[in-house]
Amino acid sequence: MLNIGCHLSASKGYFNMGKEALSINANTFQFFSRNPRGSKAKELDLDDIEKFKKLAKENNFATILAHAPYILNPCSSNEQNRILAFELMQDDLKRLEYIPNQMYNFHPGSHTGQGVETGINQIADMLNRLLTKEQTTTVLLETMAGKGSEVGSKFEELRAIIDKVELKNKMGVCLDTCHVHDAGYDIVNDLDGVLDEFDRVIGLKYLKAIHLNDSKNPFESHKDRHEVIGGGSLGIDAFERIINHPKLRHLPFYLETPNELEGYKKEIELLRGKFKE
Ligand code: FE
Ligand code: FE
Ligand code: ZN
Repeated sequence: MLNIGCHLSASKGYFNMGKEALSINANTFQFFSRNPRGSKAKELDLDDIEKFKKLAKENNFATILAHAPYILNPCSSNEQNRILAFELMQDDLKRLEYIPNQMYNFHPGSHTGQGVETGINQIADMLNRLLTKEQTTTVLLETMAGKGSEVGSKFEELRAIIDKVELKNKMGVCLDTCHVHDAGYDIVNDLDGVLDEFDRVIGLKYLKAIHLNDSKNPFESHKDRHEVIGGGSLGIDAFERIINHPKLRHLPFYLETPNELEGYKKEIELLRGKFKE
């Protein structure tokens, strides 16, 4: 069974996202925990949450994935921005507990000139002040393309963050196929080699989710522009290998391709057709 969904707009609430996912033959989805470019969060609707939990259970949903807003940057050189990152994530993690066992993905951050090492320390420091033994949410570091001063385009950097986090069992990694390809990991011609390296450096047990995106740009371009599945430099065959790979096939896959709902529906149909049960 292929667990697949796409990014949906959270403005309609959990239950409607669940219905929307089902309408395109998805059994999970990703959504922004709050406005991606602002800091405002929607009021929690407990009734909506209860209705969604029931729907998800009845339809065997895989874990849903909350994505942190882009403005969240725990390793900005600006202290106000670091404080804001802490406050946003603290509030997000509190809210996510209303649906137990979710995953929360964030871009590790951009060090904005402070250097990768300072960045790694500040990211880990925020996580150590936020994570609790009691939380049921797993926090995922996303693999980045390496544009600007982004931290997390090298597996070693993600490992270094996890190394410094005390509650490691609350941590995971979300591998974004566009980002790793842009970062210089050849998942098209050497998927096995990349996964071996991931395992050696980070450990495959930390790999909890995959963002499925083709890339508008060539290998190692450090750009981060998503393309529809099969329409970019990765190509459809690479995705067929990724979703069927014995080390990946059990994971939840989330599309973040430039699509409306109809386009996502077609991509899910295409990928379900290529999945070997
Ligand atoms: Fe992302
Ligand atoms: Fe992504
Ligand atoms: Zn991206």
